[in-house]
Amino acid sequence: MTLTALQPATAGGASWRDKAACRTADLDIFFPDPGDVVGVERARQVCDGCPVASECLSYAVGTNQTEGVWGGTTPGERRRLRQRWLKELKEAG
Ligand code: SF4
Repeated sequence: MTLTALQPATAGGASWRDKAACRTADLDIFFPDPGDVVGVERARQVCDGCPVASECLSYAVGTNQTEGVWGGTTPGERRRLRQRWLKELKEAG
């Protein structure tokens, strides 16, 4: 994903959620305890097959979701993506 594509996925509503692979899953699996690498991988396996993972990740980065697995990423991974995205936005003026 290019960082310039990261935008809050709110335009036109959040209809991407209707196509989410997790819409019928137990959402607790997307919020593993800190350091639970097995739990993170379990969530990522669902995200890997999700048709709206890109939209989900854009939403999570754009709205600064600091908890859980979104778009197959951990909070730390999203924090780094968000920092890069904000830096790019600032440089673009
Ligand atoms: S990428 Fe993962 S968390 Fe996001 S909607 Fe899809 S299954 Fe759910």
